[in-house]
Amino acid sequence: MSEDEFSGVRNRMVDAQIEVRGVADLRVLAAMRRVPRHRFVPPALWDQAYNDYPLPIGDDQTISQPYIVALMTEALELKDTDRVLEIGTGSGYQAAILAELAAEVYSIDRLASLAEQARKVLAALGYKNFQVRVGDGTLGWPEEAPFDAILVTAGSPQVPRPLVEQLALGGRLVVPVGDRFSQTLTRARKTGEGVKFDYLGGCRFVRLIGKYGWQGGGPEY
Ligand code: SAH
Repeated sequence: MSEDEFSGVRNRMVDAQIEVRGVADLRVLAAMRRVPRHRFVPPALWDQAYNDYPLPIGDDQTISQPYIVALMTEALELKDTDRVLEIGTGSGYQAAILAELAAEVYSIDRLASLAEQARKVLAALGYKNFQVRVGDGTLGWPEEAPFDAILVTAGSPQVPRPLVEQLALGGRLVVPVGDRFSQTLTRARKTGEGVKFDYLGGCRFVRLIGKYGWQGGGPEY
């Protein structure tokens, strides 16, 4: 497929999978139309990159379904001046969407191989407003806190406390919370009157493994 053909398929993805399911934020939809998702998956999967499901990216990890990426991004209510933290860099695709919509993106993965590959793709596509580091993202990135928005793209048994602490006043944290097979997309908002929660529906992510997530060990699924 040529880049033009990929672009056509990508626009159809946004129309048929994302807009119809109710994602309405025009900035989010435009970012989803721009970012070449195929570049974030292995070449053997390029022809599936715009399909309505997650794909394997190595190390037992997955790039999320496009609709889930759009839904979570919309839930963050990003402004172009926001500083954003992502836990679970994975392929780097979600980081690219965030980099389109925010001022600065900080992304952490516990697996060095994925972080390295993501960094390469993001740089090759010309993104400059991002940093990727390797470590336990459940601890956040204290040196760069507070953040206007924090997105966790792995499933956690609880809302990791350090992430709530690293939210700015008015900040939004979106995290899938549940057991290892299914989670509820949970949004925490830090307000003057404390932290307010709301719930955005069911989802299924690989596990968040770290001090304030799962303890690790055992099969991924
Ligand atoms: N956002 C990614 C998909 C993430 S898949 C994308 O757009 O492709 C979940 C990722 O979370 C995996 O890469 C996994 O290694 C990472 N992960 C799991 N636990 C983590 C932790 N405690 N800190 C940082 N990354 C973690």
